[in-house]
This record gives sequence, structure tokens and C-alpha cells, in this order.
Amino acid sequence: MYRCYFALCVMCVGNFVYAAPKEEVYPVVVLGGGIAALTSSLYLGRADLNPVVIEGKNPGGLLTQSHSVQNWPGEMEIEGLLLTEKMREQAEANGVRFLGEEVTKVDFSKRPFVIETRSVEGGSPHKILAHTCIIAMGTEPNFLHIPGETGPNGYWGRGVTNCAICDGNLYRGKSVVVVGGGDAAVLEALYLSNIAKEVTIFVRKDKLKATEQKRVEALLAKPNVKILYNTRLLEIRGNGRNVTSVISKSEKGGSKEMPMDGVFLAIGSQPNSALFSEMLELDAQGYIVLRKGQQTSVDGVYAVGDIVDPVYKQAISAAGDGAKAALQAQQYISDRIDGLVSMQKKEAPPKKIASSIGEVIEIRSMEQFKKEIAESDVLVLVDFYATWCGPCKRVAPVLDSSAQKLQGKVKFLKVNVDKCHGLSENYNIRSMPTALLFDKDGEIMDRKIGLGPILRLLEDLEER
Ligand SMILES: Cc1cc2nc3c(=O)[nH]c(=O)nc-3n(C[C@H](O)[C@H](O)[C@H](O)COP(=O)(O)OP(=O)(O)OC[C@H]3O[C@@H](n4cnc5c(N)ncnc54)[C@H](O)[C@@H]3O)c2cc1C
Repeated sequence: MYRCYFALCVMCVGNFVYAAPKEEVYPVVVLGGGIAALTSSLYLGRADLNPVVIEGKNPGGLLTQSHSVQNWPGEMEIEGLLLTEKMREQAEANGVRFLGEEVTKVDFSKRPFVIETRSVEGGSPHKILAHTCIIAMGTEPNFLHIPGETGPNGYWGRGVTNCAICDGNLYRGKSVVVVGGGDAAVLEALYLSNIAKEVTIFVRKDKLKATEQKRVEALLAKPNVKILYNTRLLEIRGNGRNVTSVISKSEKGGSKEMPMDGVFLAIGSQPNSALFSEMLELDAQGYIVLRKGQQTSVDGVYAVGDIVDPVYKQAISAAGDGAKAALQAQQYISDRIDGLVSMQKKEAPPKKIASSIGEVIEIRSMEQFKKEIAESDVLVLVDFYATWCGPCKRVAPVLDSSAQKLQGKVKFLKVNVDKCHGLSENYNIRSMPTALLFDKDGEIMDRKIGLGPILRLLEDLEER
């Protein structure tokens, strides 16, 4: 659980907790937790620079959304999530510390630099001081801004998503639409074609603009994939619980309603650079402008990966940037900072949060689930998870710890949605992770979707 215990703050680091001493100035802080950040931090860790990575809401970054990475040297094929987990493990083994926090503000006009962060599930901000920074905050996917997409009446997380690898399995045997015509759209559609009954692709132009020809050919050969060119998505409709249809408009045929269970958006992205607009030079699209190597317009601040790259946006180029920035930062520190700073000694190995495997009951059938709910005379918290879902992995240790603390007060169950498909359908689970809280009479009293809301719910339960 992300909590303040000591004078300044105790930060939760994946499964670990450590205390950040007051007014410590870090030699280098990495902002972001994707491929670029992981590579930078590995180099910095190996150089004994004691790096801290503020990994934001999406540890591992965008690559975790790829079920099949086939262009990472040395791996014929690897899941993005597995690759980033291996990189994170390697970084940790080299002394890198990860914070489950997001950056809310920076001040690069002062030395040392000031970085304001707060826990990914909210709470009050606190400051981190750094002599150098490496920015690796990637890009954010675009939205269509059409009725039914997001907002209170939208179906975001309940049938509208931008991540086939995260949510695709929930559409087994169903009809889905992919919106977009680039590489991401082709990849998402290919993945979904192995799961869904039908995949329709809405392409705004009269052709696909994907560059990976082999993938395009594979897609065109799929019997359950239909491509509608010159077609826009106008509206997403549903029954209040799920998506049921979409309204599309084609150049020739006018608008029409098509029954649909899921909408996958694959329509590009924006650099996550708004925080830096007052501090660094950005280009017209918001990408951070580089001066020399990975150096930004401020000395000692480096930027890497997709946030500086409007063109290539590849894992390997992000990693390459990461390595270069780490070496530049290392040089900067040894040229200008050494002597001013006494490098912090590495802290004692972080302490594991106590876990109590076995207290969260794994549900294997509908009957077992009904029995557990019916027989409970306390609240029951049910965690719907999947093995391929990154945030679910972050919920799991906290759930174990809460189960131990709340023994006798709350019963904890977990449901693997791929193994208990009927159960997740019954409860309309459309996004991962989802937690349901049942009262003593077996009625649902709360539903939380996503890492932050679930962690907050667990915290509330512990404080009751
Ligand atoms: C579906 C899909 C499939 C892909 N497949 C491939 C492939 O097969 N091969 C390939 O080479 N590339 C692939 N890519 C592209 C690749 O994923 C990206 O190029 C790469 O992830 C960029 O890495 P990055 O570290 O720059 O940014 P990202 O991976 O986007 O990471 C950004 C990081 O910044 C963090 N962050 C954001 N805001 C904040 C904040 N305020 N505070 C703290 N942290 C923050 C996020 O939590 C995240 O950890 C794919 C992309 C997608 C979407």
C-alpha cells in the first residue's frame, strides 16, 4: 500500500517499500517507466549512479500492449510484457529503484532540479530533487471524441479500449471493430482475429498506411477480417452496461448502424510533454526538441524514446536513446557535479511487503464462487484478473497483504477471467483489473476498475 510512514515519505517500489530521506538530491532521476527509461536506468545503475525511476501509471510502457514483439534483437518472438518485466528485473538487480508515482510538475529553472510527484492513485504531492533528469514519458493514445466513447455516458473500459492485448480475450467469439489504418491498427486487428468472431476495420482513407507489409498480408488473408475503407466511426451505442452497436459513415454509403460488442481505437498518439512546455523547447507537435545527442534545451536534462520521436517510435530506438542519455548524464555528472555531491550510499536491500499467499482464494468454478459468496458472513472482495494484464500484477501483492490484515473482516477471492469466462460474463467484466465488493447478503455494493481505484478501495477497507 502506498502510504507515508516516515518523516518525508515511504514509497512503494513494485513489491518493495523504501524510505526517501529528507532533502536527498539524487544524481539522476528518470521520468517514465517504459523501454527507454528501463534502458537508461540499467546503464545508470551499472555506473553506480543510484538512479530512481518514476514509472507513472503504466510500468513497462506501451510495449506491454504488444502480444508479439518480433523485432527485438536476440528474441525471435517475445511478449512485450515479458520483455519489459525482464528488463525491469535486470535494472533492479543493478540497483535501480522504481517509484509507483507520477510526475505532476517540474522546475528545471533551479539547480538542483525539482520534480513534484504523487502516488499513481492520488494523494498529496511531494518533491524530489535531482542533479540531472532523463525524460522518458512516451506518448498518449488519441481519442475520437465521439458520443459513447468516454465520459459519464461513454463505454470506455466497458467495451471501448485501445489495447487488444489487455482486453482482447474478453471478446472471444464476439464482433469487434478496430478504428485506424496504421501499424497499430493492423497489429490490434491481427491479434483480435485469433479471438473474436469477426473483426471489422474502419479506415478513414482509401488504403492502409501500415508499413509492416508482412503483417498487412497476414491480415488480408484472415477470413474473419473485413476492411471498410473511407469509413469513419460516428457514435458508439450500448445498453448502459455494454457496447451493442456502432454508427459508421462511409463516403459512398452514408451512415449505418452495425451490431458490435467491442471498439478498439488505434488512431495514433500525442507526446506526454505538456508538463515541460514552460521549461523545454518543444516542436509544433509537442515532441521535445534535442540539441546534442539526447540533450534538451536545458543542460543536464535529457529526453529519450517516443517523446522525442515523431517518426520511428520503436522499442529498439527508444532503448538506444535510453543508453545514449545515460552515458551523457554520466559524463555531465562526472564533469560538473562530482565533488559537489557525495554520492548516496546504496540503501539496504528493500524490504518485501509481507504477503500471505493462500488467504486470497482462487476461484475455479461458478459453483465454488456461489458457495463462497453465500457462506460468507463478512464483506467479500473479488478481484477479476488476467495473467497477461500488467496492472493486475501490481494489484496482486497488495491484495495478499490486505487479505492478511483484514482476516475475519473481509473475504478475498480472485478470478482468472480466462479460466472462469462465464463468471466474468455474468458480472460484465470488460476491463482489467476489476474488483467487485459484495455485502454480507451477496449484493454488489461497489465496483472498481483499474489499479488506482482498486488500491484506494483496499486502503479504505483497511481504514474502516
Ligand atoms: C500495440 C503496440 C505494439 C507495439 N509493438 C512494437 C513492436 O513489436 N516493436 C517495436 O519496436 N515497437 C512496438 N511498439 C512501439 C513501442 O511500444 C514504443 O516505441 C515504446 O514503448 C516507446 O518506449 P518509451 O519508453 O519511449 O515510451 P512508453 O513505452 O510509452 O513509456 C512511457 C512511460 O512513461 C510513463 N509516464 C507517462 N506519464 C508519466 C508521468 N506523468 N509521470 C511518470 N511517468 C509517466 C508511463 O507510465 C510509461 O511507463 C508498439 C506499440 C504499441 C502501442
